[in-house]
Order: sequence, then structure tokens, then C-alpha cells
Amino acid sequence: MGQRAEVHVDLGAIASNIKKIRGNTEAEVLAVVKANAYGHGLIPVANCALESGATWLGVALLEEAFALREAGISAPLIAWLTPLGEDFSRAIELNIDLSLASIDHARAIESAGKSLGKKPRVHIEFDSGMGRGGFTEEDFTEFLEVANTFELDYIGFWTHFARADEPERPETDSQITHFDAALAQLKSAGINPQLVHLANSAAAQTRIGAHRNIVRLGISMYGLSPDVTSMGSGESLGLIPAMSVVATLALVKKVKAGTPVGYGGVGVTSVDTTLGIVAMGYSDGIPRNTSSAVGVTFHGVKAPIIGRVSMDQFVVDLGPGSEAKNGDQVLLFGAGGYSIDEWAEASKTINYEIVTRIASRVPRIYG
Ligand SMILES: *Cc1c(COP(=O)(O)O)cnc(C)c1O
Repeated sequence: MGQRAEVHVDLGAIASNIKKIRGNTEAEVLAVVKANAYGHGLIPVANCALESGATWLGVALLEEAFALREAGISAPLIAWLTPLGEDFSRAIELNIDLSLASIDHARAIESAGKSLGKKPRVHIEFDSGMGRGGFTEEDFTEFLEVANTFELDYIGFWTHFARADEPERPETDSQITHFDAALAQLKSAGINPQLVHLANSAAAQTRIGAHRNIVRLGISMYGLSPDVTSMGSGESLGLIPAMSVVATLALVKKVKAGTPVGYGGVGVTSVDTTLGIVAMGYSDGIPRNTSSAVGVTFHGVKAPIIGRVSMDQFVVDLGPGSEAKNGDQVLLFGAGGYSIDEWAEASKTINYEIVTRIASRVPRIYG
């Protein structure tokens, strides 16, 4: 019998997904392992990705980068969300590349490097149309006037796409055009970064022209599609989903037709049936608004959610003839059960959020 709830991570699937993407590109692969490797577990996934041919790692936060270094992982590593005031010195000491999108950052990172007597490695982020991180065209022009005065090692130049998951969108072409113009400006200023990177998973799959030196591979590495509507499912892209979730039935009981279930009484049994109380709830990352379009699978039989998801538990309708017992294990999503994409649809969200939000209190089991 398993634990209350478990996330099962198939590292073989992650290895296969990376190899699949590598087979389609000349570019190197940077494995994006932010947010606890999209919920799959930072260190095991990082090691697996590197063993499967990824040459770089990328994270959002410095604390994630520090955890990788503390685990003894020495691969090239970039952290791209580093507000002023964070521990740049430690990052520089640990050979963590930093992203740069303002002159303020250039000053702060340079100053941390100077006090260590070490030249910081930075990647300049350009906002080519995402409207989020990165230098705007105006700010970039201003930066270029002083870029050579900073004691910084300009390793990379990069941008991020807003709509690459809709393969036909002209906005992506426009982002590439703006990016290339900025890259030309950078080169005229005498700065020739060794690494130029634009592509996320969607662009890695659909835009060879955007691959350049390296693709930043996130969701596809985990076997999921960047957008099931416009690109099809992960499986149709030749990917294997790596995560499945199982939980224990804390209680199984027979109830009469017309029984209201859970807060608000929004679920009511239509026949005499068997309820299963699943030991996972919204504090574990199960979205509270998930509909009865999904639920669990027990011995190959689907049992939909009934009523609202609570903080630590939710209830499924196992059906009148169910032979489930207290303590049996059920599958929430994974091979042989509902898919992560079905859970996303039933929760009005995207597959990224379903996997990422599974709480760290749920143990990860690797196979
Ligand atoms: C998260 C992230 C990625 C990966 O995106 P996917 O769509 O999951 O492939 C790539 N680059 C940056 C900057 C990111 O923040």
C-alpha cells in the first residue's frame, strides 16, 4: 500500500522527450527546471536532463539555482528572474549566469563581481514583443551606449516568445525580426555573445529558424504539449508525459441516492452508490474548481469527482457495484487513467499549471 498521495515521475519519459527534441534540431538543449522542474522535482530532473544530452539548465529564481549547485551540479546554468537586492555575489561565486534587462542590474551585478574580483557572466534579455521581461528597444539603445564600460562577460543574448504556441501567428515572425535587429546593434557595439537563444518548447517544435545556438525546453521535456488546441496533445507530438499522481482512498462508503456531497451540497448522488474519499485536496494542488469531467481511475474504471474539492480531500463516485476498499490506491492522472490535459480542461486551466501546482508536501517517487 502506498502513501496518502504520491507523484510518480518517469525519468525515462523525460530522457526520451529530450532525445526526441534533440533529434529535430542542430541546437543544444537548455533544460528548464524552474518551479521544482514543473513539479517533477528539481534535482532528479536536472540530473536526468543532463544525462540525456541537455547541456545547460535554466531556472527562474536564484534560490533554485543555488539548490542545483548545492546538489553538486556544475553544468552551465542561468537564472532569469533576479530582482535587485538578491545575492548576486553568491551567484557569481557559484558560476550562475544572470539575466540582464536594465542598467540598474548591470551596475549591481558588476559591483558584486568587482568585490569578488570575478567577472560576472550575463545574458542580455531583449523584449522583442512579449511585453514582460527584457530591455525595450529604447532602453536597449541607451544600454548599448554604456555596455562596454561594464566589467561584465556578455555570454548570451535572448528573448522570449508570447505566442509561439500558436504556430501560424505573425507576431512570432515580428519578434524574430526585432530580435535580429537588436542583435545586429549589439554586434556593431562590439559585443558578440556566444549564445543566442529565443525558442521555448513551442518554437523548438515549430520554428527551426528560431533555434539558433540553444533551445530552452520546458513543457515538452515533461511530455506535454505547449498548447493542445493549436498544436495537438503531447502524445501526438511524439512525447511521453512524465508525471502521474496516485492517492489513497481514506474512506469508502455506500450511500443512498439523493445524498448531497461536500461543501455547498453541489454534488448529489443520482443513485445508490459507493463514494470514495480521496486523500488529496486543494492544498495539495488539486484545483478547487475541477469539474466531474475527471476524477480517479480504480482498476481501470473511471470514477468522477462529486461535489467540491476540499482543502485535503475530494470525493469520487465509484459506482454502485464498486469493490474498492478503505486504503486502496487510485490514479488521478497518468497512463491508463485521465490525462493531465483532461484535468487541465476540467479545471479551466492549462497542463503547465496542473503539474506545477502539485504541492511539495506530496512525495515524488522516481522510476
Ligand atoms: C518557462 C520558460 C521557458 C520554457 O517554456 P516552455 O513553454 O515550458 O517550453 C523558456 N524560457 C523562459 C524564459 C521561461 O521562463
